[in-house]
Amino acid sequence: MPDIVLSVRNLEVVYNDVALVLRGISLDVPSGAVVALLGANGAGKTTLLRAVTGLLPTHRGRITKGTVALDGQPITGLDAAAVVRRGMSQVMEGRRIFAELSVEDNLRAGAYTRRSRVEVAANHARVMDLFPVLAARRRSTAGYLSGGEQQMLAIGRALMASPKVLLLDEPSLGLAPKVVEQVRDILVTINAAGTSVLLVEQNAMMALSIATTGYVLETGKVVRDGPASELLADEDIREFYLGST
Ligand code: ATP
Repeated sequence: MPDIVLSVRNLEVVYNDVALVLRGISLDVPSGAVVALLGANGAGKTTLLRAVTGLLPTHRGRITKGTVALDGQPITGLDAAAVVRRGMSQVMEGRRIFAELSVEDNLRAGAYTRRSRVEVAANHARVMDLFPVLAARRRSTAGYLSGGEQQMLAIGRALMASPKVLLLDEPSLGLAPKVVEQVRDILVTINAAGTSVLLVEQNAMMALSIATTGYVLETGKVVRDGPASELLADEDIREFYLGST
C-alpha cells in the first residue's frame, strides 16, 4: 500500500450548528498522487477543502465527527496557518490574490509561514522558473494580470509555502481552453517534482486526465471512487460530468 499523505476519515461538517453538509466522508491522497474530487454544485467539495485546511470557522462551520491526518499526524481542527506550516496549502476558488499588491508581494505573502530566508529564496526561484510569465511581470499590480496569469499567481503563491500537498478549488473556472491546458501542464509539472495534489474540478475531463484516482461527491457523501481511468470510462460519469456517453 502506498504512503498516504492526506487521510480523511468519516468526516462530518455542519454550518451554523444546524446544516449537516458533509455526512461521513473518507478520502485518501497517496503520496505523489493527483486525486480528483468531482461533484455537482453544492455537493460539498469546497466544504471538504475548508475542513482539511482549517478554514471552516471563518464560514461558521465546524467538524462534528471524523479525523484528518497529514503524513500520519492528526491535524483535525488545527487553524489555517498551522495547517500550512505542517505542509498543506490551498489555492482557493476565484483565485483570491491581493489585487492591489504587486506580483512579487503576493508571492512573498505566500511565504509567511516560512522563517528560513534560504528556503524562501529557493522557493521563489522555483516559482519564477515554473512561471516565466510571473517573472516577467514581477512588479506589475496583480489586479491587472489576465485571469490565467492570476491563476498562475495563486498557484505560485501557494507553492511559496513548500507544501507536500497542494489543494486546488476549481483552478480552471472561467479560463479559456488554452489557459486551462496551461494550468493542467503546470499541475503535472508540480506533481512530477514531488508535490501531491487534491484537485477539485467541475472540469472532470481535465481533472481525470491527470489524476491517479478520483472521488465523486453527492450531497456530502462519496458515491464513487476508483482509478481515474475507470471513472473516465464510466457511462454515468461521462454522461453527467463530461456531457457525453
Ligand atoms: P460549488 O461547486 O458550488 O462550490 P461545492 O461542491 O463546493 O459546490 P460547497 O460550497 O461545499 O459545495 O457547499 C455544500 C453545501 O453547503 C451547499 O448546500 C451550500 O449551500 C452549503 N454551504 C456552503 N457554505 C456555507 C456556509 N458558510 N453556511 C451555510 N451553508 C453553507
